[in-house]
Amino acid sequence: MSSSQPIEPEFQQAYDEIVSSLTDSTLFEKQPKYKKVLPVVSVPERVIQFRVTWENDKGEQEVAPGFRVQYNSAKGPYKGGLRFHPSVNLSILKFLGFEQIFKNALTGLDMGGAKGGLAVDLKGRSDNEIRRICNSFMRELSRHIGQDTDVPAGDIGVGGREIGYLFGAYRSYRNSWEGVLTGKGLNWGGSLIRPEATGYGLVYYTQAMIDYATKGKESFAGKRVAISGSGNVAQYAALKVIELGGIVVSLSDSKGAIFSETGITADQVTAIAEAKINFKSLQQIVAEYSVFTEDKIKYIDGARPWVHAGKVDIALPCATQNEISGDEAKALVAAGVKFVAEGSNMGSTPEAIRVFETARSTASSVPSAVWYVGGKASNLGGVLVSGLEMAQNSQRVSWTRETVDKELKKRMINCFNDCIEAAETYSKESNTSTLPSLVKGANLASFIKVADAMFDQGDVF
Ligand code: NDP
Repeated sequence: MSSSQPIEPEFQQAYDEIVSSLTDSTLFEKQPKYKKVLPVVSVPERVIQFRVTWENDKGEQEVAPGFRVQYNSAKGPYKGGLRFHPSVNLSILKFLGFEQIFKNALTGLDMGGAKGGLAVDLKGRSDNEIRRICNSFMRELSRHIGQDTDVPAGDIGVGGREIGYLFGAYRSYRNSWEGVLTGKGLNWGGSLIRPEATGYGLVYYTQAMIDYATKGKESFAGKRVAISGSGNVAQYAALKVIELGGIVVSLSDSKGAIFSETGITADQVTAIAEAKINFKSLQQIVAEYSVFTEDKIKYIDGARPWVHAGKVDIALPCATQNEISGDEAKALVAAGVKFVAEGSNMGSTPEAIRVFETARSTASSVPSAVWYVGGKASNLGGVLVSGLEMAQNSQRVSWTRETVDKELKKRMINCFNDCIEAAETYSKESNTSTLPSLVKGANLASFIKVADAMFDQGDVF
């Protein structure tokens, strides 16, 4: 693959990250057969592109391209979210689908990788129009998915409301009630903890990093945590951080960022969650909701949190891809960041990853190191609980909140341990006074799991 002028820049970036982790390890020297997997796994098994057209509230026809990239089913039925956002295109969905293959392998459950979506802006549209859009999208998608074939979930722009409309449309088109989507409502097949899962899981993974690096001496308590985004992932990450005694110093949206020296409160996060369903901006929410009036919340228009948050111990990007640039990564390191864990997919640019990885690999001691992990490992809590939702649907049972949360936590820690083990087994690094690379660990551990399944089934020979 040429990387000089990529036709699909986001996909190329995701592909290059995996390749660089694999080639900068001893994997291909120790087991050369794995080299054969790369060209095969990088091509999706199937790409479906279709026309979605609906009548808007003004009585006009609108049209947008819909997609489903069914990337790899060696490890189980295709599984991955649907993104409804104006930026959706094939490069973005291929990057997300490619990442999803490896993320799903790290959950320890049997799921293949996929991603899909629609290039549409839902902001400002009525519930009725959103229902018509979901109906039209599912009219075509319903031909290609099923509980044993492909089980989509939400992503940016697709939350509980949209999953409901999509599920209702599937049921109607196929005359079949099945666990074909995850993130469903609690009284119609959904799992407890699914809405919370990505944010909570991110915090559990980060807690495992803190435990390992400080030998159990430190936790989130008292730490200053910069979070970006204010959607599903950011909201529940913030609530879990606050529950564990951390200070959430920032949140953001596509228009700007808010900052609090004393820490954004759980009530404020709840108010944001309510208002975001109605597409309000953070600027509007801070101005309109009474929970914000007494607190010293600073709003900066057009800003991302990283250079404005003051001293930062932990950074959790939770908005979108490439949301930390190289310069912002440098600013975070200068602000004292020690742990960076992505809630978003590919939250850091390659330049930012280089800054974080250099601040780790060249550290003279563990306390002076910066430890970074990509979303593939740290944000897999969502798809993990989606996998548990599928298991509950198959058995027609509902597990308790405690059971699901315990399983989520256990599996996030298992994933962390798998990343450490793979990084240590295949490391080429000579500096032993620092921490292992979690980027490489996540890429190596997941690649080997997927590759082995592909060899066994004759996908690669
Ligand atoms: P939401 O739609 O609930 O929230 C997205 C948030 O990011 C909003 O605050 C939105 O701002 C902001 N945002 C979106 N696009 C941009 C942009 N281009 N620039 C700046 N801010 C932006 O999505 P989720 O919380 O579900 O997803 C967030 C990230 O987490 C994504 O990268 C997603 O792929 C990833 N993820 C999500 C999972 C899930 O279970 N939901 C699972 C694993 C990963 P605004 O409110 O103004 O639109």
